[in-house]
Amino acid sequence: MCGIVGYTGVNNALPFLLNGLEKLEYRGYDSAGVYVHTDDNRDVLVREKGRVKDLEKKVKEYDMQGKSGIAHTRWATHGQPSIENAHPHVSADGRYYLVHNGVIENYKQLKADYLSDVEFKSQTDTEVAVQLVGKFAS
Ligand code: GLU
Repeated sequence: MCGIVGYTGVNNALPFLLNGLEKLEYRGYDSAGVYVHTDDNRDVLVREKGRVKDLEKKVKEYDMQGKSGIAHTRWATHGQPSIENAHPHVSADGRYYLVHNGVIENYKQLKADYLSDVEFKSQTDTEVAVQLVGKFAS
């Protein structure tokens, strides 16, 4: 069972997001990730295999000052536990970031029907959802 945290507000998002992931650790997970839209208008995505504390170490290498973001602890169902398969996932056009809990039963069908021209970066069912949004909402 994964964990999902989101924040948008007047404060720095990152401490809130990481604190939220720590609170959700008891649910079990194999990897974790965080996305922040920074105050200077950058999209920063950091993901790590293993524990939330490993992710916390990694984010120190990035400037992630920003007031909105999403974070996730993943329990792999589709694709091995890895950095590439960890959430958030991003659409091919780089406009949408997405985290997801659960399983998309018909992901293969959706991929074949609508996304044959999209280059996927992960083995997850989740990436199908964000690629669909990227393709049809843009
Ligand atoms: N099915 C998704 C995956 O394997 C989400 C798993 C979860 O709920 O953490 O990435």
